[in-house]
Amino acid sequence: MARKFLLCFHDFSVWNYQKVAPILEELKDLAGAPFSVLVIPDTDKAPSDMVKGFRETLQKLKAGGFELALHGYKHQAEFSQGRSYAGLIGMNLTGGEAEFAGLSEFESSRLLHLGLDAWKELIGDSEKPTAFVPPTWYSNKFLPSQVHAEKMLYEERFALVTAKGKRYASPVASFAGIPDFLIKAAFKFGAIALKVPVGLPRIALHPVDFPARTDKIHDLIRIALNSGRKLSQYKDL
Ligand SMILES: [Zn+2]
Repeated sequence: MARKFLLCFHDFSVWNYQKVAPILEELKDLAGAPFSVLVIPDTDKAPSDMVKGFRETLQKLKAGGFELALHGYKHQAEFSQGRSYAGLIGMNLTGGEAEFAGLSEFESSRLLHLGLDAWKELIGDSEKPTAFVPPTWYSNKFLPSQVHAEKMLYEERFALVTAKGKRYASPVASFAGIPDFLIKAAFKFGAIALKVPVGLPRIALHPVDFPARTDKIHDLIRIALNSGRKLSQYKDL
């Protein structure tokens, strides 16, 4: 079996799809194949014409072979109630983006299902997300089994666990929220992870990486393609 790598574009939402969709197409051309897009499904406060445009763009991506995965509900933690101390720290470290950090079993399940409901509204009933990636990877101890109960792959920061329980070690190269002086090291780490013949490396991209880091990211994708690894999607695992 050929070795694999994943290319995952995070935080695709109703608020950025117009800007981000052309970036996805450009990356697809470079990579030679479509890849995984992590969707924030909440459209609550968006005007209806934008929601319509977002829906059409998601359909177009799907038709083009992109894989859509679920990335939280709002990607924004709204309250601290019922969070564990670790969860509160997680939330503060990420500017309130760690939606699932330290939630109680009930709140975690409630939020996951709000995310799934918003997904249904947006993408339809027929296609469930193949994977769930909690925003910023901060989690709680209940979430992995709640995700697996919905037959989705669960992504941790450094590992993937399929719905059937198969676990992959998965080093990630990610650049959002990293201080400037560490960016070089992050790219170097990514290049090494892709070249070393173990694990299932991921390149995790965010809207804020573009255009500031476009060239470096293109280089990293070229390294991945030249490493003998095959660009894969969550559903291939
Ligand atoms: Zn995110």
